[in-house]
Amino acid sequence: MRATMLYGAGDVRVEEVPDPTLREPTDALVRVLRSCICGSDLWPYGSMPATEQGRRIGHEFLGVIEDIGSDVSGLAVGDLVVAPFVWADNTCDFCAQGLQTSCRHGGQWGVPGVDGGQGEAVRVPQAQGTLVKLPVAEDSALLSSLLTLSDVFCTGHHAAVTAGVGPRTTVTVIGDGAVGLSAVLAAKRLGAERILLMGRHKDRTDLGREFGATDVVAERGAEGVERVRELTGGDGTHTVLECVGTRQAIEMSIAAVRDGGVIGRVGAPQYTEAPMDFGTVMRNITLTGGVAPARAYIEELMPDILDGTIEPGRVFDRTVSLDEVPDGYRAMAGREALKVLIRP
Ligand SMILES: [Zn+2]
Repeated sequence: MRATMLYGAGDVRVEEVPDPTLREPTDALVRVLRSCICGSDLWPYGSMPATEQGRRIGHEFLGVIEDIGSDVSGLAVGDLVVAPFVWADNTCDFCAQGLQTSCRHGGQWGVPGVDGGQGEAVRVPQAQGTLVKLPVAEDSALLSSLLTLSDVFCTGHHAAVTAGVGPRTTVTVIGDGAVGLSAVLAAKRLGAERILLMGRHKDRTDLGREFGATDVVAERGAEGVERVRELTGGDGTHTVLECVGTRQAIEMSIAAVRDGGVIGRVGAPQYTEAPMDFGTVMRNITLTGGVAPARAYIEELMPDILDGTIEPGRVFDRTVSLDEVPDGYRAMAGREALKVLIRP
């Protein structure tokens, strides 16, 4: 079969790789119907040292079960399923706590011995715990929105949930990428009435307004924070959802949150130090968030997609074939595309 390989910064290739087969009785084989490129894929795409052997990439996909191990129950060949961006048994103590990202028997996609999602098929370890059945047909118009349950919409939701967003909280979302826009949609879904979106790409912030943002702040840094404070009577917002991952973004989060407020951080951090000084202690700020246990949220969020209440798949603004995946990376890295959908 063919799959996407990353050989180094800027070097993505689609190549012939061995066909996946069942290895453990807990595995399933999934033929990929939809996959996509994640903002977090752009970090290795921008910086990975060149390698001879390359590595598999991609961690968001949905597809059809083609073969299934003897220990997998509740799923069958022919089922249409979505996979969260880590695999997990969904039974251990961490999973029971809703922290499938810390599963004792789980792991990541695209690491040695495990397929990546940006290919024609994937061997899914711990299939029973990992995969969630989708009650739609292969040609459903909902597939792109259902694919966001794999990562991006669940990640935005996680930022909002960990920050405690609800009807009485004001929200600042930092970042107008696909995660930031998902966080806006999630905050709106959880009842937030005031949602300030910080971003400077008009086409993206326009979608953010449609997702529920009440105000857009195009300024960045100290100027952006000042604008947030102006819009909130000088105090900042109860919650800040940090969806970028840079040091500037976490500094802006700390500056824009109201005293006693909560920062839900889901941007993949590209920094190792952040200001946690005496001044921040005096303000009683909570820093939370982290990697989203998407598996814990899928069943809760899916009905709103199935009945059309939300359309998180609108973050996809370009579709490519498997052959065109390298162009998809270039388009996302060059900010020409917000999020790229792959149809193998
Ligand atoms: Zn587990």
